[in-house]
Amino acid sequence: MSKLLTDLIEALRCLPGVGGKSAQRMAFHLLERERERGLRLASALEQAMQRIGNCTRCRNFSEEPVCSICASSSRDRHVLCVVESPTELAAIEQATGYRGQYFVLLGRLSPLDGLGPEELGLGLLTERLAEGEIEEMIIATNPTVEGEATAHYLAQLARAAGVKPTRLAHGVPLGGELEYVDRGTLAHAFGSRQSL
Ligand SMILES: [Zn+2]
Repeated sequence: MSKLLTDLIEALRCLPGVGGKSAQRMAFHLLERERERGLRLASALEQAMQRIGNCTRCRNFSEEPVCSICASSSRDRHVLCVVESPTELAAIEQATGYRGQYFVLLGRLSPLDGLGPEELGLGLLTERLAEGEIEEMIIATNPTVEGEATAHYLAQLARAAGVKPTRLAHGVPLGGELEYVDRGTLAHAFGSRQSL
């Protein structure tokens, strides 16, 4: 097999759930039938990888210093929803009618993996709470052991800043990741959140 083809297959394997066989099928498919779209894919990938960074306010993906949600004047500035990753932010945006702000941890507290308060941007979050605009902090970390430990820590941060912490209601299965929960369940859990 040619060197370029081997490189392409190897590169495709970085995608989640893509093993050697699938990567090979994708590479052949692009070369046999989808050259033009393949080039578009390459260009979109390059642009995205180089230009998408993180919002300086909420840490969500953004190509501007401040993302469109943080910059929007029509979003409620009194409610802040804290999620582990941009994937979950997207799930909440799509499944619920939430119109408040967000903060993305880009992880969860996990000392064994070297993820502490600093890595999760909790200094930035504390500054945000100290601005005094936020009244409720919805903690939407995953209901896993680490997610719960993170939620506990976040609730303390909120209380220390005089902000009311709430947590998503039941319906999200224990150990389940928010991104895999169906929309109805997520919308319900979001709507009937509880005080911590
Ligand atoms: Zn933002």
